[in-house]
Amino acid sequence: MSETNQEYIVISGARENNLKNVSLRIPKRKITIFTGVSGSGKSSIVFDTIASESQRLLNENFSMFVRNFLPRFPQPDADAIENLSMAVIVDQKRLGGGSHSTMGTITDISPILRLLFSRVGQPFVGPSNMFSFNDPQGMCLECNGLGRRLGVDMSKSIDMTKSLNEGAILLPDYKVNSMDWNIIVESGFFDLDKKLSDYSEEELEQLLYGKARKVQMQFGGKAINITVEGVIEKFTNKYIKQDVKTKSERTQQAVAPFISEGACSSCRGARLSQAALHCKINGLNIAEMSSLEVGQLIRVIREVDDPIAAPVAKSLTERLQHLVDIGLDYLTLDRETDTLSGGESQRVKMVKHLSGSLVDVTYIFDEPSVGLHPRDVHQLNELLQKLRDKGNTVLVVEHDPDVIKVADHIVDVGPHAGGRGGNIVFEGSYPGLLASGTLTGNHMKRPLELKQDSRQPSGKLAIKDATLHNLHKVSVDIPTGVLTVVTGVAGSGKSTLINEVFLSQHPDAIVIDQSAVGVSTRSNPATYTGIMDDVRKAFASANKVNQGLFSFNSKGACENCQGLGVVYTDLAYLDSVKLPCEVCEGKRFKEEVLTYKLDGKSIAEVLEMTVEQALEFFQLKEVVRKLQALSDVGLNYITLGQPLSTLSGGECQRIKLASELHKNGSIYVMDEPTTGLHMSDIGHLLEIMNRLVDTGNTVIVIEHNLEVISHADWIIDMGPDGGSKGGQVVFEGTPTQIIHSEKSITGKYLK
Ligand code: ADP
Ligand code: ADP
Ligand code: ZN
Ligand code: ZN
Repeated sequence: MSETNQEYIVISGARENNLKNVSLRIPKRKITIFTGVSGSGKSSIVFDTIASESQRLLNENFSMFVRNFLPRFPQPDADAIENLSMAVIVDQKRLGGGSHSTMGTITDISPILRLLFSRVGQPFVGPSNMFSFNDPQGMCLECNGLGRRLGVDMSKSIDMTKSLNEGAILLPDYKVNSMDWNIIVESGFFDLDKKLSDYSEEELEQLLYGKARKVQMQFGGKAINITVEGVIEKFTNKYIKQDVKTKSERTQQAVAPFISEGACSSCRGARLSQAALHCKINGLNIAEMSSLEVGQLIRVIREVDDPIAAPVAKSLTERLQHLVDIGLDYLTLDRETDTLSGGESQRVKMVKHLSGSLVDVTYIFDEPSVGLHPRDVHQLNELLQKLRDKGNTVLVVEHDPDVIKVADHIVDVGPHAGGRGGNIVFEGSYPGLLASGTLTGNHMKRPLELKQDSRQPSGKLAIKDATLHNLHKVSVDIPTGVLTVVTGVAGSGKSTLINEVFLSQHPDAIVIDQSAVGVSTRSNPATYTGIMDDVRKAFASANKVNQGLFSFNSKGACENCQGLGVVYTDLAYLDSVKLPCEVCEGKRFKEEVLTYKLDGKSIAEVLEMTVEQALEFFQLKEVVRKLQALSDVGLNYITLGQPLSTLSGGECQRIKLASELHKNGSIYVMDEPTTGLHMSDIGHLLEIMNRLVDTGNTVIVIEHNLEVISHADWIIDMGPDGGSKGGQVVFEGTPTQIIHSEKSITGKYLK
């Protein structure tokens, strides 16, 4: 092989999905961006061809025996793929992991912080695992390192404004004159007529938490030894420490209102043992440090000037700096990873790789700009450049013009989606793209137009004094009957304000988000939108047979695969492997069913049609309406039978939108609906939003895309920055007003 060829990943004759014999050379150790309309074939090149082949080659290094246990990657459909290096995919799958997985554990920063405490913490406690809430040596034993525990809900259990005689204790066992109440009264320890708020600290402690002791009391003329115990203490022992499920259903119901999950009272949510919590550096214990925003923590660590600590502190600040660099300075190390958004998860994964020492890796990113305000995008760009400068090849699927600008090389896939795509329409530099005349090139040249004639709202929905997470007593009105865009830098509080505070007051709103659709492996666009029902009826009446035949959930289904089209082969304790069904060859129906035709097509052939093809094929009014809705949201290229599980987050969001389009008088809430959309598809999305508003709906959109922001009737800009430096409304008004706002960062970018 020649020298120069080694400098490129070379792909010849690629044909995965819609690719039309694609050949291309991708420069190594450079940033290459793949762009083009949704469905044009970007993922088919980057994920289904390059990443898949790299994974397959990697697996070939293992012995036959081990390989039997690995998920099988079939050879991608291509003539040749040369010069690949190991591929690492950094995607937007959320970081699960439950409550034991935090930002600190996932980035490997917590172990270094623990090392720091074990070196220079005062007083010295022991080895670094003494500071780990995942280690029995370090965890708080009261809550097993969870930081949360079931406990008595004091506000519901005790009325401090009353005396014992007036019924200050609200717990079910302590009604005035009940057995337990009498024990408290007869013990002689407590003033029965004094309001609890007038009790001394010590008296209250005794009443609520006093340890059990035997006291002789007179009951019915007899002296008996009775145990007196603090009210809360007793309730806890009886109903919380023992499994309440062993009690009768009536008892469970009676005590449930008094029990709630809250911070563990022993560690106060810090998850660690008392010994670990007493160990401090510059006055802060490890839990306190982990609850600081990363931006602040870095300053605290820089002040540690003990020479023994210097190397550890240095490696700690280096890693923290990566988080700051990528715009995550507003997160805390103790943040549980399953509460991070998709975009935040991807950036956290990126940091892991930056700290690693791998070189000559091919990093593959899937729309890393998701969730990022234009202000934050340059930080992302710097990170991509750092990865490249360490000697790695960086491949990015991306639509954001500001990311496309930093590419060393751009591959534009198109010209359109599905069958009308699958070609490389441009390869080269950024100026070359602008001059290329492709859809992408043309859209990048178009200037933004600010909406001039904003609609008048029909009313307003008020949010008052919201304080959740970082919100600083936010009061804001959301206008009804118009298109409102909520924007602001990452971490400023947009999701908290809309998805949590607003939606908790308006549960009737229609939420169009990016979570997965479809409950079963059998769901597809046709079943999800209801098109399948109409199609089955049409097949049945055309052939005078029962419509049940045309459902792959029933009689008509291939018996070998039960209508799945694939057969799962289980492998011991690993992911099962999916193979096309040999009997129906993936068509999912019995052969007999396929002999029934509708205008010359079998049911399997109909399910293989794209939305666009189906629009040409069907005349049925209901079917056409539903297909048109799919087409309107930019999903022309998906096939009716494509399993919903193969759709991306952005595609899931648009399929939900398509099936919710016909309501009026509703509130629609959308979270970054431009995810996965090419610039040329955004016009369609705006048309849909406008149509929704024009038919009497209120549309609220969280979005960073400047084109969407400039088309809003009303903008709510959160900021000024992320985390504790955000949480305020910095601007409310129209697009033509925001560009004059001094405080709004968004306004500056719109200008
Ligand atoms: P992009 O990444 O540019 O949005 P894709 O490469 O995902 O486009 O898709 C290109 C075409 O291949 C589309 O028509 C899409 O519907 C089709 N396609 C992608 N993945 C699958 C799959 N797993 N099964 C069937 N068709 C698919
Ligand atoms: P945006 O949507 O503008 O990116 P968010 O509303 O997600 O911002 O976040 C605002 C602030 O609230 C950030 O400091 C973030 O870390 C914090 N936050 C968000 N969700 C949670 C959560 N589940 N637990 C703790 N803090 C959170
Ligand atoms: Zn605890
Ligand atoms: Zn089958």
